[in-house]
Amino acid sequence: MLKTKSVESPVDRYADGLRILATRFRGRGMSTSRYDVWMPSLGPSERLLKSMLAGRMTWAAFSRAYRQELFLDGPIDRRSQTIKNHGQKFTLRLLRQLAEQGDVTLMCHCAEDEPHCHRHLLRQEILRA
Ligand SMILES: [Zn+2]
Repeated sequence: MLKTKSVESPVDRYADGLRILATRFRGRGMSTSRYDVWMPSLGPSERLLKSMLAGRMTWAAFSRAYRQELFLDGPIDRRSQTIKNHGQKFTLRLLRQLAEQGDVTLMCHCAEDEPHCHRHLLRQEILRA
């Protein structure tokens, strides 16, 4: 199962399964025991995050931009004519497989009840990967 959670919420070693911190910033003073793996590549870019936090964009605009970033080509794609990375495309597929075989929890620093958090968008993208 693929779940989402605030990294600040209590750790449930049994129900959480693989705990992934999917944020660009790890968090000062964040204990490494609160997650199994930190994947900054799954968080919004620093520029996008700053725009959102500064209130310079709507949630809808943020959602669109974040989804685009997830599939943004990098320099390596210019070196491959046939099979490109397409951003996080293959990582999202891997996570979907892991979530079908066990529990995976995507985490962010946002509060547990925050509806406008990229982790919800990330979960949707993984489920359709
Ligand atoms: Zn968040």
